Amino acid sequence: MHQPPAVCAVCQRSLDIRIDARGASYVHPPGAQQDHAPVPVPPAAGWRGHCDFCSEHPATHTLPVRDFTVALEHPLAKLTGTDWKSRGNWAACGVCAHLLENQEWDQLRERAINAFVSTYPGPVDTNLNRLMFGELFRVLQQKTTGPVRPVEDGDQS
Ligand SMILES: [Zn+2]
Ligand SMILES: [Zn+2]
Repeated sequence: MHQPPAVCAVCQRSLDIRIDARGASYVHPPGAQQDHAPVPVPPAAGWRGHCDFCSEHPATHTLPVRDFTVALEHPLAKLTGTDWKSRGNWAACGVCAHLLENQEWDQLRERAINAFVSTYPGPVDTNLNRLMFGELFRVLQQKTTGPVRPVEDGDQS
């Protein structure tokens, strides 16, 4: 089953792919605005998305990451109630890139949670989010294949 990368036409975030009993579908990444349904469209040439960590726009850096799937048995999937797939590199804004360069994963987690809380409509369980993002970033660290680098023109991340 192959799903091409897609961005949301409404918020211009790159979309994640979720696979469940109904098959594959596009979902907003953690930290994206959750006030609308994703409208998947192919990314335009030279498209530059939001930061995958804190939603800042535009992303200026890219973190090389191997595709990974968080299986249902994984604690992270238990927390979110679904398995979860990351495709391609992660985009980062200047601030998040700085935190990545310095391996400040705890600060990065707090920044991501703050961004998520500010866009999420409804009550947020901060402890649960701290667990979720902590676990997500722990997996992400294992899948990172190199240092964060500035996006060059013509880069597709
Ligand atoms: Zn959207
Ligand atoms: Zn950021």
